Amino acid sequence: MFKKAINQELMRTNNKAQILRCVKAKQVVSKRELTEELGLSTTTVATFIRELEEENLILNSGIARSTGGRRSLLYQLNPDYCYTLGLDLQVDRIVGVLLDFKGDVQAEKEVAFQGRDEWQVVPLLKTFIHDLLATHKIPWAKLGGIGIGVPGVLNNEAEIIDFAPNLGWKNVDLPAMLALDKPVYLENEANAGALGEVEFGLGRNVGHLAYISVGMGIGCGLIIDHRLFSGHLRNAGEFGHMTVEPEGLPCRCGNRGCWEVYASNAAALRMYAEETGNQQITFPEFLLKCHEDDHCATNVLQTVSKYLGLGIASVINGLNPEMVIIGGEIANVKPLIFNSLLKEIKERTLEKSYAGVRLEFSQLGNKAAALGMGTIVLEQIINALT
Ligand SMILES: [Zn+2]
Repeated sequence: MFKKAINQELMRTNNKAQILRCVKAKQVVSKRELTEELGLSTTTVATFIRELEEENLILNSGIARSTGGRRSLLYQLNPDYCYTLGLDLQVDRIVGVLLDFKGDVQAEKEVAFQGRDEWQVVPLLKTFIHDLLATHKIPWAKLGGIGIGVPGVLNNEAEIIDFAPNLGWKNVDLPAMLALDKPVYLENEANAGALGEVEFGLGRNVGHLAYISVGMGIGCGLIIDHRLFSGHLRNAGEFGHMTVEPEGLPCRCGNRGCWEVYASNAAALRMYAEETGNQQITFPEFLLKCHEDDHCATNVLQTVSKYLGLGIASVINGLNPEMVIIGGEIANVKPLIFNSLLKEIKERTLEKSYAGVRLEFSQLGNKAAALGMGTIVLEQIINALT
């Protein structure tokens, strides 16, 4: 009897969770659609819809247009149930989005910083979080959680930043340092970017996606069979440290000749400095010179995109993705590099894998990882509810 009672409770919870997730996925849905979609009885759907409404998780959002039969009420997630913050901690800026419970973006913010020490960055993060809530007048009590994408490797529990080489951070317990009375979730920024593309960008409905985040380093977020692939020790996707020049320049990871040493924004700036002696130029300024057809800058861009292409070719050969999305500021010069990149990839990939892949540049600006982090927090909240 005891076992039966447990099973009944589990089934009840599962049915309610299924309904909540179906409302989220469909955005607006009627009871009849829920019944048909989930194969549940009309009574079961009606019972749980009432419960979810009483808990303020869903609300009535109008009436479906009549098609001759009975008109039916429509339901959606209650956007004001709670809010999440998705942040992307980059090496020189914080990018953030405020999402409502439906997952719609309510506010965005971006702040640049210079000092990368954790004791300098943490107070900035705290101010950023409070400011972003204030822009939309969201009370602290309505904040369901905070997700932070970081340019580095996390421990197995995703609670501590083991190593973020481009920030110079080792063993940083960011949630503890923030000391906020809200859940804080961490994820590698490239993984977060991949999830952002799946939820908000070009990666919708793509089951096998490689998101290549090109910044001061290169990270890859991998969606395999519709799920984020993290690897045995949450360390998957570190293609940035794939050797492309056996006797090449040293990398921060300790190896030499890594892909990110030749194909990242830092690589472009190093090559440009070698050509011109100009060490002060920023990456946006470098891209501007490329747009202005500056000879040195465009030469460097072609070299970098050649390396970018040969690395992407290896990713494609190894993973056979349906889509590769390149994210980062390099996406701003897509027209200047798309053809040469495609040529490089075509020459170095297996025919079948090349024929089956789409190469895209992110259309989310620099928000992919922040959006992905907001989504991760929403998922955690829904998991906890159901
Ligand atoms: Zn390396």
